[in-house]
Amino acid sequence: MSQIDDLPPLRDVIATHDLRAKKSLGQNFLLDLNLTARIARTGGSLEGAQVLEVGPGPGGLTRGLLAEGAAKVLAIEKDARCLPALAEIASAYPGRLEVVNADALKMDVSAHLTPPWRVCANLPYNVGTELLVRWLTPASWPPPWESLTLMFQKEVAERIVAAPGSKTYGRLAILSQWRCDTRIAMTLPPEAFSPPPKIHSAVVHLTALSAPRFDADATVLERVVAKGFNQRRKMLRAALKGLVPDVEDRLLAAGIKPTDRAEQVPLEGWCAFAREVAKV
Ligand code: SAM
Repeated sequence: MSQIDDLPPLRDVIATHDLRAKKSLGQNFLLDLNLTARIARTGGSLEGAQVLEVGPGPGGLTRGLLAEGAAKVLAIEKDARCLPALAEIASAYPGRLEVVNADALKMDVSAHLTPPWRVCANLPYNVGTELLVRWLTPASWPPPWESLTLMFQKEVAERIVAAPGSKTYGRLAILSQWRCDTRIAMTLPPEAFSPPPKIHSAVVHLTALSAPRFDADATVLERVVAKGFNQRRKMLRAALKGLVPDVEDRLLAAGIKPTDRAEQVPLEGWCAFAREVAKV
């Protein structure tokens, strides 16, 4: 059951600690604690969960995660100005919040959390996409995380959940859907944030599957998909030229028409093609 904590309203926290949003850090804060609690419970109950939060800022989502029962939240924040506000939250939830002042792109969290952990973040979109790709491409599968709940620009969220045949279907959809269930959990208008960004946003929820949906070598799959979608308007026999000898035969062996475009090939087809390429 969610309960709103006894900490001051986020507007007061921002004023007290002079947390004027910095554009360079992509700061658009969520101030509605009912909304942050809803985002926190996107993947179900957090009772007893270990959670990695990236970019807590003044702590709206952090408070949601703790109020929803997370046993431990590791929050990584690059902006040192946010630390006093986060320390207040840590005092209100003794022993449950660890804050690290670091760049999430340079930090190894494995020493701080026990797997499997959940990830929850409202991050600048460029950092979010880079971290998503890293989380989706670990050295081995299953990964140490069980789910990712991430705020994205709505257009990026649509690319993650896209189906074959759509304009948004590409590398991100294939990487995500190969080893995860994906869904858009909610969409948010600019006014949900302070200051409001120019675009609409969406929360995407990804749950790690215990094994990939179809057999393929991860590195080969990434390579063929990157090349196939690099020239997405070309037929595959042209887009994939030079990848391996006899590319048309390999496509046919995988059950793919060489005259198709990358966006017409479903995930299963890309995995079959990656298996053919791996034989070379
Ligand atoms: N989670 C807060 C919320 O929902 O109100 C803040 C969201 S704001 C969009 C993004 C946060 O990520 C900011 O606090 C910013 O300082 C932080 N940030 C930006 N780049 C980061 C990085 N590379 N590593 C860690 N934190 C980062």
